[in-house]
Amino acid sequence: MNPVFANLPTTVFEAMSRLARDYGAINLGQGFPDDPGPADIREAGARALIEGPNQYPPMMGLPDLRGAIAAHYGRHQGLSLDPETEVMVTSGATEALAGALLALIEPGDEVILFAPMYDAYLPLVQRAGGVPRIVNLMPPAFRPDEAALTDAFTDRTRVVLLNNPLNPSATLFDGEDLALLARLCCHHDTVALCDEVWEHVVFDGARHTPLMAMPGMRGRTVKVGSAGKIFSLTGWKVGFVMAEAPLMRVLAKAHQFLTFTTPPNLQAAVALGLRKEEGWFEAMRAGYARSRDRLAGGLRERGFTVLPSGATWFLNIDIAALGEHDDVAFCEALVTRHGVAAIPVSAFYPDGAVRHLVRLCFAKADPTLDAALDRMAGLA
Ligand code: PMP
Ligand code: GLN
Repeated sequence: MNPVFANLPTTVFEAMSRLARDYGAINLGQGFPDDPGPADIREAGARALIEGPNQYPPMMGLPDLRGAIAAHYGRHQGLSLDPETEVMVTSGATEALAGALLALIEPGDEVILFAPMYDAYLPLVQRAGGVPRIVNLMPPAFRPDEAALTDAFTDRTRVVLLNNPLNPSATLFDGEDLALLARLCCHHDTVALCDEVWEHVVFDGARHTPLMAMPGMRGRTVKVGSAGKIFSLTGWKVGFVMAEAPLMRVLAKAHQFLTFTTPPNLQAAVALGLRKEEGWFEAMRAGYARSRDRLAGGLRERGFTVLPSGATWFLNIDIAALGEHDDVAFCEALVTRHGVAAIPVSAFYPDGAVRHLVRLCFAKADPTLDAALDRMAGLA
């Protein structure tokens, strides 16, 4: 057995959701909304399930969806993508990331990762034979230190894996950070693998800037998106990859033997979603911003220290302010004794550098957030 996977614990999201079920807790751990998702997209998926298509679609994705993806990113992010050669549909962002790492890394290649990092990244990099170089981003700003990032790049740096907006910190990299990263990628001939699944879930008037749009990055960026996050349909696992044709040809080789394809009925429904008017995206953001404010406000009223949340479905509380320094123990007690599941942020730092933050998902109906707040009253 391969030791990388044989020695892995079960992902914190599954473990926490299981504890939430076992203890009848309110699950603010794993990130998923309790809203069923947009009715018109689900209806389109249901129609396509009855009427088809239901046989293998083209390996790169339904032409209609690839066209919708190219048009969508042109409209929202000013990218000009050829749907024929620069767009591919995958089974979730997870497949896109795994495939890209398999396709891009040769054993011994160095891969720069930022912590906090989504928990799939490091095992996938290691299993592909990559040598991780981890740059820690520290709260509350979670911005890269220029010297540390510059030092992390060497002449063996093949890939830098960037998650922007960043889960779990709920922050965005700013223009200066992206410009620095672009300069370093160009200087070291590095491919940027950009996990931008949270690109639409940004608040307070902020706009997401894709690294692909920075000078010199068009031909060396692999951009990854997820319909699960854009449309609050996390179980659908419809992802997209965008890259210039020479890179895409290699990525397609990984995709053809990982999943080959993605359910065509879901693809048809996602195409409809991507064509929605700008107003729909604004309303979606406004709805989540209201939920964020409800949970953050309620936590502050109850004495918690809440970090700013500028994106994603998450906010973080600082438990050091409560005299607590072990986020795992705090989350265990929270779920087993108080009936609220949350995620310890140390799970996103391979060296455990940060142990005083706890992530809560606010993508829930008001009564659920209020009930969680009631259960947490008295803890701070
Ligand atoms: N990357 C990040 C940063 C995520 O937060 C998630 C899911 N929450 C994923 C990837 C996985 O996306 P998908 O469900 O489309 O595979
Ligand atoms: N990305 C989701 C989160 O951050 C979880 C996804 C999963 O459970 N694998 O909570």
